[in-house]
Order: sequence, then structure tokens, then C-alpha cells
Amino acid sequence: MAAATPGPDVKDALFRRIAARRGEAADLTAALIRIPTVNPPGDAYEPCARFLGERLAARGFSVEYLRAEGAVGDSARYPRLNVVARIEGDGPGPCVHFNSHIDVVAPGEGWTVDPFGGAVRDGRVYGRGACDMKGGLAASIVAVEAILDAGIAFPGAIEISGTVDEETGGYAGVAWLAERGYFSPPRVDHVIIPEPLYKDAVCLGHRGVWWSEVEVRGRIAHGSMPFLGVSAIRGMGAFLAKVERELYPRLAQRRTRMPVIPDRARQSTLNFNSLHGGLPEQDGRDGFPSALVADRCRLVLDRRYLVEESEDEVKREIRDLLEALKAEQPEFDYELRDLWSVPPTLTEPDAPVVRALDRAIEAVLGAPPRHVASPGTYDQKHVARIGHLHDCVAYGPGILELAHQPDEYIDIDDMVASAQIMAAAALDLLGGPAS
Ligand SMILES: [Zn+2]
Repeated sequence: MAAATPGPDVKDALFRRIAARRGEAADLTAALIRIPTVNPPGDAYEPCARFLGERLAARGFSVEYLRAEGAVGDSARYPRLNVVARIEGDGPGPCVHFNSHIDVVAPGEGWTVDPFGGAVRDGRVYGRGACDMKGGLAASIVAVEAILDAGIAFPGAIEISGTVDEETGGYAGVAWLAERGYFSPPRVDHVIIPEPLYKDAVCLGHRGVWWSEVEVRGRIAHGSMPFLGVSAIRGMGAFLAKVERELYPRLAQRRTRMPVIPDRARQSTLNFNSLHGGLPEQDGRDGFPSALVADRCRLVLDRRYLVEESEDEVKREIRDLLEALKAEQPEFDYELRDLWSVPPTLTEPDAPVVRALDRAIEAVLGAPPRHVASPGTYDQKHVARIGHLHDCVAYGPGILELAHQPDEYIDIDDMVASAQIMAAAALDLLGGPAS
């Protein structure tokens, strides 16, 4: 049987169909926000996965629930339950996969609305995860359901997944599934991750990250006679001064070809995550600390690096500063430990998924698409490194800066526009009639 006649009419009808689902997109987002999938610890993953699976099963998807047993964080109390739903088209062809993480970060302070209430007001849906990224997940579902309801024939298959733990590295989510072939050909060919990076922008990837711990070791002594010991805190102070003087100016010089946003992240950056020296912290109300020269001082570093840099160079740069200090101060003693690292990921701007989204953005918004890269990492790293699938980007509604903030929201018009763009791009990639 031949597919429906291709052409712009099919696409326009589909766009109208999606626009008519404005209320449904808002309701679905609100329903997802009301399932408080806070991570850590990984609350309510099971009801959220089942909610998605049941909705998609009712639409004809075959649904798999995949618990990452044995993965970090998985327990009977907090099962790491992922859901993958797949619907086959009319014949052999590629598979387009929409992947969203279902976890959200803790609400924190400063909210003027209930973070898990899903309030709809002034054209926005409010709540923790509205923007990052339950709004994007809802938009992808509305997009795919509209294709199905329109009866548009397409070859291949479409998948929608809801995965866990992105906010804590994605090891029980996309990484775990990628290790089992869920993000590799021949099962999947193109992946769109609806993270909040603006409705007119395609996010090609992210910078790399290296977390490490520097421990400076001193020698304990009585605090009234500090000259008898070696202060680890003063040693760390010397290291921090060296970083400030020698490394920060160098990092600021390193601009990347990666289109990282915001613009000030389009370079190498370094953050001191935490610093502690001496006795365990006390706030003064529990009495006085004892008089001691600190024999330990620990610093956690968060270094974000570029495709133009290698992890080895990034590590060597820190080690060289430490070694230089040791040469200057014979009593300076340190240890440098790796904590976590992820290399940068960058999909080529002429990759099929990028071109399809570019065309769809142009068609729906009438404006040229932007290409961006994310300052922080997200699950694309696992698709690229474990799945070896490089036709993967982030594209979704929402304003990046609202992620993890109080009074987080998603604009409903943006959800509708991005759902239209996702639907058009999916059909384009599948080679269906609206392409
Ligand atoms: Zn996210």
C-alpha cells in the first residue's frame, strides 16, 4: 500500500493538529511535575515510568520497563526504573528516538508556587522539572502522538524513552541502556534529547569535565607554636594563589570552536567546588575547636574543558602547578586524585539529525536555526561514547537558565512550537511523507 501523498499539506495539517493540543501539552507536563521524581535519592521513578508506559501502550507502543539492577543507586526502596516505548512504521527504515530524563533536582528554597503542584498560569506551567525537562518530554510525546493520530504513514520506527539519574550522571539510565544496545544501530539511528536549550537552537554537544581532589598534607603541631608544624592550609593557600595568578588568565584565553552558551562558557573554566582543612567543621556553638596546625587540606576542582584540549593536558596543567610549588617549597606535600571525567562531545553540524532540525526550525519559526553547545554535560555523552551513535543532539523547549532555579517554568507556546519542530524533523529523518 502506498503512503499518503507527500507534501506541505500533510505538514501543515500536522502543525495545526499539534497546535490544537496546546492544553494537552500543558496538562501532560503538569501531570509529570506532580510525580516528584527528585534525585537524589531517586524518588517516584517507578510511578513516573509506569505513567509514561501506560499512556504510550494505550497508543499502540510496545513498552519495556528496564530496571538498572546492580547499578549505582538502585535499591528496593529506590528502583532505577527506565521506560522505553517503540512504535513500528509501515516497513523497514530508520529509527528516531526521543530520550528524556525523568529525574529532577531537589526544589530548594525560594519558591512562590508549589514545586510539585504543576500550576498552569499565564501561558506557563510551573514546577520543578517544568523546563528541565518534563516540558520537553511532554512536547515529544504530543509530537509523536499527533503523527499517529494524523494517520501519516512512515517507514522505520519511533521510540520514546524516559530514563533516570541524568542529574547524577545517567549511569543507571542512558549509560545502562546504551551498554545493552538501546542507543546503537541497528536499533536506533537518530537521537533527539529534548533538554531545555531554546526552541530555535540545536545543541550539538557539551564541554568535557574533569573533577579531581587535591589534598595538601602538612604536619600537626600545637596551634600556639605553628612554627613546629607545617600548615596544610597555608600550603593550599599557596596553590590557590598560583592557580589564580597563572592558570585563570590562561584558561580565559582559550576560546573554542564549540558554540557553547552562554558566551562566557565558550572557554575553559575552573571552579573550586569545596575546600576543607583542619578539624571537622564546627559552627562555634559546640564549643571551641582545639588548637592545632592543620595537617590536611582538601580541595575539589571542577574543570570544564574543550574539544581543542585533551584530558591529559588538563590534568598535567594542574599537576605542573603542584610540582612547581613543591620545587619552591620543600615541605609542600600533596596528592592529586581523579574523581570523575567525561570527554567533550560534539556532533557535526552537517549530521542528519542537525540538518533535519534546522529545516524544521526554519519551517515552523520562519527564522534561521542557531547551533549551540551546553556548558554542562548531559546524556549525549553516553549515546556517543557507549552507543557509538553520533547522530544525536539536544533539542527542546525551555530556557536553559531556568533549570534548577526556584519558580522554574515552561512556556506553553514554546512547547507547541518545539513539538511541531520535533514532529517535522522526525518525519524528515524517517523519510516519511511530510519530509
Ligand atoms: Zn536536564
